[in-house]
Amino acid sequence: MENCIFCKIANGEIPSATVYEDANFRAILDIAPAAKGHVLLLPKAHIKNLTEADDAVLSAALPVVKRISGAIGKTLSCDGINVLQNNGEAAGQSVFHLHIHMIPRYVADGVTIPWETKSYEDGEAAELAEKIAENL
Ligand code: AMP
Ligand code: ZN
Repeated sequence: MENCIFCKIANGEIPSATVYEDANFRAILDIAPAAKGHVLLLPKAHIKNLTEADDAVLSAALPVVKRISGAIGKTLSCDGINVLQNNGEAAGQSVFHLHIHMIPRYVADGVTIPWETKSYEDGEAAELAEKIAENL
């Protein structure tokens, strides 16, 4: 895709701090990290977001995420890692080329991934679960 910065980075047209590369993916250090060692896994093919991705790409991605997360932990001795992925502007997606975040975390590090919790009325959760299941 023309003018997609992550296409250019993933395919090596723009240099990046690369931690991993194979035929389908490149993983880079985020330019504005939530913590040092915050990695983004980018497919080389342009895919807008999770719902538009081929199952084959997604199946290949998670073992790579596991491997890189292990390497982040070994390198930084962090206490945990958030793996997250934003779909759509409302969900915080700012680059519209699929990417998976891996964020090293430390006890009381002050990094916030905030949401206010909501609650269900009686029976509402079961009803909603059923509706979502119907749309699988
Ligand atoms: P998201 O908000 O989930 O779309 O995440 C986009 C991420 O891409 C943000 O964390 C940005 O800091 C990061 N980012 C944007 N441009 C670049 C770039 N040129 N190189 C590395 N990371 C980038
Ligand atoms: Zn792209």
